[in-house]
Amino acid sequence: MAVDGLSVQLTAPNGRSYTQPTGLYINGQWVKSDGGVTLASTDPATEKHIVSVQSGSKSDIDKAVAAARAALKAPAWKSLQSSDRGRLLYRLADLVDEHRETLATIETWDNGKPYTVALNEDMAEVTGTLRYYAGFSDKVFGQVMELSPDKFAYTVREPVGVCGQIIPWNYPLSMAAWKLGPALACGNTVVLKPAEQTPLSILYFVNLIAEAGFPPGVVNIINGRGSEAGAALASHPDVDKIAFTGSTATAREIMRMAAGTLKNLTLETGGKSPLIVFDDAELDNAVEWAHLGIMSNQGQICTATSRILVQEGVYRRFVDAFKQQIREVSRVGDPFDEATYQGPQVTRAQHERILQYIDPTVFTDVTPGMRIFQEEVFGPFVAIMPFRTEEEAVELANGTQYGLGSAVFTTNLTRAHRVARAVESGMVWINSSNDCDWRIPFGGVKQSGIGRELGEAGLEAYSNVKAIHVNMKSKL
Ligand code: NAD
Repeated sequence: MAVDGLSVQLTAPNGRSYTQPTGLYINGQWVKSDGGVTLASTDPATEKHIVSVQSGSKSDIDKAVAAARAALKAPAWKSLQSSDRGRLLYRLADLVDEHRETLATIETWDNGKPYTVALNEDMAEVTGTLRYYAGFSDKVFGQVMELSPDKFAYTVREPVGVCGQIIPWNYPLSMAAWKLGPALACGNTVVLKPAEQTPLSILYFVNLIAEAGFPPGVVNIINGRGSEAGAALASHPDVDKIAFTGSTATAREIMRMAAGTLKNLTLETGGKSPLIVFDDAELDNAVEWAHLGIMSNQGQICTATSRILVQEGVYRRFVDAFKQQIREVSRVGDPFDEATYQGPQVTRAQHERILQYIDPTVFTDVTPGMRIFQEEVFGPFVAIMPFRTEEEAVELANGTQYGLGSAVFTTNLTRAHRVARAVESGMVWINSSNDCDWRIPFGGVKQSGIGRELGEAGLEAYSNVKAIHVNMKSKL
């Protein structure tokens, strides 16, 4: 559907050929950037150039926001029955299923994650999230409050308005689905800016949005640099909300920029999540989850359990078994090879950033003052340290600026729940790590974010409650 000059025919390393759109998508049209600037997309496995796509400027953001504002008021969207909004989301999920091999191919090519993961995990997350929120489209209700025989009030849930959504590169399509699903279910309109490292899959997905039947202007997609397109969106006076996923440092910038018009904000940021293993844990189970918790998706997961705290009675046994697990499972290689567990990091810059912290990626006997205990590395890089008591474990777990996820391994039921309550984090996994499900709220405390995505809680971020007071008495 892309117009001439704004799409190319590509063949991916796995032999799959497809049409790759390269434009900006504004008001239902593929267009070129005003500034004539492009972004180069690179295959991280080979560092070969894949294709260049249009990169949005401030004036492109202005046009996209204007289109989203107009679409918000247009009858095609504003007057659409809520169940019909849901039907569009269901149709979009079905189209993603039909195109899942192509979408997963693009994701792997552009991001470096193993194809089996992109196909079986990421695409399932995209469709699951879209269908979950499709079902909510006609269930976003208010309440009636009886006050006296003469007075009552009721509430309605209204869309927040034009939502700017800024997403990272580690799960490009899943992050888009997490943000688009609830926003569209609640009747908002969207300008979404993907990460500059992974611009491609979302452009293919745009054609599916159009085919599903969303009216023009409801979803606008502007690839572009954070400092230009991202900043223009975050500071735009006609944007009502910014939903952001990325680093804590960028989130601070965004808060500053959004302050001008007091925008509604949802921020999902960094983490340094602890995984606590008590002496009484099922050790093999703890080792397997600890491995998955830091090595899957090349360690590029905001909730990665990157600090492992192990009670001293099992410390040496845990460390030995953990290293063995890495040797046996973490096969690094071509992301299109089915045997590969770990593909390349997303870019050379990211790879080098991780190596700054040093060469081997398992650090034992770490102390809380070390940078590798405190700072998010965002790679297959883990710090392991021993502890003696439960109190010490909780103190260590809470000893960073972050509070996103946390994991507790123990067979002691009461301790599991006690520690779950004591750790400062938005999510806790008891005897697992990094479980994530669209039905369950996701988000952090402290400097890991503000607000929640996913689950029913995710709808609150995309609707305002309006209270309407009714007086039935004709005399004061
Ligand atoms: P980043 O913050 O640099 O970029 C994220 C997004 O923000 C990109 O789209 C980027 O273009 C945009 N951006 C950058 N500067 C901007 C600016 N000044 N104004 C507006 N937008 C701007 O993060 P990254 O390094 O690409 O991603 C990795 C980070 O994301 C990690 O710290 C990780 O923890 C975090 N992350 C968090 C979650 C979560 O849900 N909590 C999920 C994935 C990643």
